[in-house]
Parts: sequence; C-alpha cells; structure tokens
Amino acid sequence: MLIVMGYQARKEEIAAVIKAIECMGLRAEPIPGGERTAIGVLGNTGYVDDSTVRDLPGVQEVIHVSKPYKLVSRAFHPECSVVTVGNVRIGSGERPVVTAGPCAVESEEQIMRTARAVKKAGADLLRGGAFKPRTGPHTFQGLKEEGLKLLAAAGRETGLAVVTEVMSPETVGIVAEHADLLQVGARNMQNFDLLKELGRSGKPVLLKRGMCATIEEFLAAAEYILAEGNPNVILCERGIRTFDTATRNTLDLSAIPLIKELSHLPIMADPSHATGKRSLVRPMAKAALVAGADGILVEVHPEPEKALSDGPQSLTCEDFEALMNELKPLYNYLGF
Ligand code: PEP
Ligand code: MN
Repeated sequence: MLIVMGYQARKEEIAAVIKAIECMGLRAEPIPGGERTAIGVLGNTGYVDDSTVRDLPGVQEVIHVSKPYKLVSRAFHPECSVVTVGNVRIGSGERPVVTAGPCAVESEEQIMRTARAVKKAGADLLRGGAFKPRTGPHTFQGLKEEGLKLLAAAGRETGLAVVTEVMSPETVGIVAEHADLLQVGARNMQNFDLLKELGRSGKPVLLKRGMCATIEEFLAAAEYILAEGNPNVILCERGIRTFDTATRNTLDLSAIPLIKELSHLPIMADPSHATGKRSLVRPMAKAALVAGADGILVEVHPEPEKALSDGPQSLTCEDFEALMNELKPLYNYLGF
C-alpha cells in the first residue's frame, strides 16, 4: 500500500500516518518527493485494510499495490535512482556508462592488457569474472580469489572501478573486499539467500535478468535486495531464451523502456551474452542505448580465440575501440 499525502500536508500529519501504520504492526517508509511525500507500507503479506489511515488529515490518496514489488516501483519512488560506483554515476540521465572487460580473469597479463585497452578507449568500469557460473563442471570455473586480486590490481592501475560476479551468500564478503560493483548472474537471479545477503551488504549490485525470467520476476528479485535496506541496485537486460537458436539469447529491447516506466532503478544492457556473436554486439549495444539503457556491458578479450570462456562473443580491443568511436555521434544524436 502507498499513501500519498497532499501538497499541503504538515509534518505532524505525516507523523500521525506513520504512527497509525506502525500501530497496525506494519512498517512505514516515508518517501519525500519534489512536490509531496508518499508513505510506503511494508511488511504486509496480503491486502491491508486502509480504513484507519484513509481519512486521516493530510492524506490525499491510498493506492493498493498488488505487484510483488513496491520499493523498486516508480509508483513508490517517482524520481530516477542514481547508483554510484567508484566515481561513476549510473542512471543520472547523463552520458551512459560503458562497462568492458573479459568474461573471466585468466591471467595477470590478460586482465592488465584488457584493462589498459578498454581504459584507453574510454570505458568507465572494468569487468572480469573470478567465480564463473559455467553450464558444465568440466570447464574453466574461474581463478576465484586470485582472480579477484588480479582484477582489483588492474582496476587500481587504470583507475577503473571493477565489477565481478558473486555466486553464493558465503562469498559476498570476499568479493565485496575486492570489487566496487557485485554482479548477480542470470543463473542466480532468484537465489534469494544471495539477494538477501547482498541487501545486507549495502554494496552496489548489478542484477542480471534470468534467462527465463519475466519482467515481474526480475523486479521482484531486485525487491529482495532493496527490502534488506540496500537501494544500490542496477538492473541488466542480458537476453532471454526464446524459440530461436540462431543467437545465444534474444535481447529483449522493449524491456528497457518498459522497466524505465515500472521502476526507478537504472537499467543496463549486455549485448554480449544476449547475442553470443561478436558481429552482433556493436549494433545491439547501440540499439540498447537508443532504447534508453543507462549503460552497456560488453565482453572484451585481447585474443578472443584463446579465451577460456565466451570467446565467440568477445570483442577484440580494436573492435571495442571502434564501438566507442561509433558511440560519439550516437551520443550527439541522443543529446548527451
Ligand atoms: C557474465 O557476465 O560473464 C555472465 C556469466 O553473464 P550471465 O549471467 O548474464 O550469463
Ligand atoms: Mn561471459
């Protein structure tokens, strides 16, 4: 339930509404807006009888929210949220943010080379997996803690904040020690214990859409993180599984403007995992930005043919530089 206070509502009236909600055994979360305050009601598992609050002085409207998410919804928080990672602001409506790097950290030489190249080309954030969620157990699973250290060192050397995946609640602490932004991969979008632990950690989280998740399930997953007190969530559309196998996944471009309508959280797009094919990454990166994405995440490898994971979809450092050059006129056109 969301209680919208009138323009003229006084502080005491807002306090009285909060008290009435708390007397019902529920939690009240005031959301001050530019023009008026709304009060979110949390902690209910079913319909809330609004008779004790709807006629209180200052109350303009009571909205019953039937969706499985509230804190992430625009109804709850009309202004766009901005998430800060290092010194990069995501969702600010300024120039979109570019995250680039290899699928996995493979060696010091590989991550350093990639980090220098993507920095030089203008990337804002460096990515690289250390804990890899691979489909089968007989493939490269990542360098784990050693990979985290190499990634963090590459970030320090280039001045780029770093993003890497965290796969389990038990490893949130160690990943958070080394990374600025913690990624939840598509396969873990509904790992609720992981989401709750990330919510408690307070660290910025990049939540990827599950490959078979509806938009509602995606936003409900983000809600788990916010419900634990962490508002620093960036969503990422990375393609969903459809009937067509010509591409690895299908980039759901319409999810980007739709999520902007439904939620205040920033949303990025990952054309690498969405397409699985190098030649499609540049066009789909640009399409996502035209659709309103707050940023893109692209895989870059200095020698994709030797990559231990996701080589076919990785851009070479030269391809990445070409993409960055293509973005300049696009940003002009989009007014950034
Ligand atoms: C990745 O970013 O390398 C990754 C495994 O992505 P996803 O979870 O979207 O498949
Ligand atoms: Mn990958």
